[in-house]
Amino acid sequence: MIAALLLLCAAALLSVPHLLVRIERLRRSPRAALFVWQALSLSAVLCLLTAGPIAWLRPRPLPTVPEVAVLVVASVASLGVLVHLLTNGHHVGTRIRAARDEHRQLVDLVGRHEGQHTRVLPSERVSAYCVPGEGSRLVITEAALTALPGDQLAAVVAHEEAHLHERHDLVLEFFTVLHTATPRLLRTDRALSEVALLVEVLADRAAREQVGEVALGRAIVSLSEAAAGSDLTPGVSAGAGAAATRIRLLVADDPAPWQTLVLYVVCTAALVVPPALVALSVP
Ligand SMILES: [Zn+2]
Repeated sequence: MIAALLLLCAAALLSVPHLLVRIERLRRSPRAALFVWQALSLSAVLCLLTAGPIAWLRPRPLPTVPEVAVLVVASVASLGVLVHLLTNGHHVGTRIRAARDEHRQLVDLVGRHEGQHTRVLPSERVSAYCVPGEGSRLVITEAALTALPGDQLAAVVAHEEAHLHERHDLVLEFFTVLHTATPRLLRTDRALSEVALLVEVLADRAAREQVGEVALGRAIVSLSEAAAGSDLTPGVSAGAGAAATRIRLLVADDPAPWQTLVLYVVCTAALVVPPALVALSVP
């Protein structure tokens, strides 16, 4: 029965993240790893969404007890995921955008305008972050301008610009919506922090290209020492504890090409599963 297979696949896809968060070396291929995380979540959600309708596609006149059980579980799963997707997708999006709009207005009001999108806040806390989205802002405090040497300042700006330019906020938003649509019992919240960390690693890679690993490493140390929670952005956050990991990854060897290749193969395989199973159920 295809609906049962879809449910099993969803359970399997949702259990992989419990394993993935333990494999630290995947962080050396941050872009491919991010694709895998998104693909696993998207595929699990598609399996759950389609299991219900597939179960109802051709019900037998006298179904057996296991078939009835699959029908009930699949219907509940599909309906639950659909409701979560619709409500969370709307809430997460509108909540984040409202918070950003408010934050943007605030930094425009109290910050010194440096160019079109940079704002300098009169704060004694050493901090820098970005407000992504339309009318994005790069925010830095007076204390950071005073405390950080030129090369570290350039590193911080390059890191935040990478977040804005590559729209990491959308990556996190998409993953959050998918993640919260899956059953709470099956998902792990460590997946969210892992994806947030991978986004930080991506921004670090971009900044490293411009300023080098020494300046960037020192900037990460300076900011994390200055205040737990520096580099916090609405929607883009690595967490203070991630600083040491990010510095380790700055100097880590590049991954073997096969690692990145394997990740993209896993990604493709995960995305092929739901449509393949649905195609099997079509007469
Ligand atoms: Zn960042």
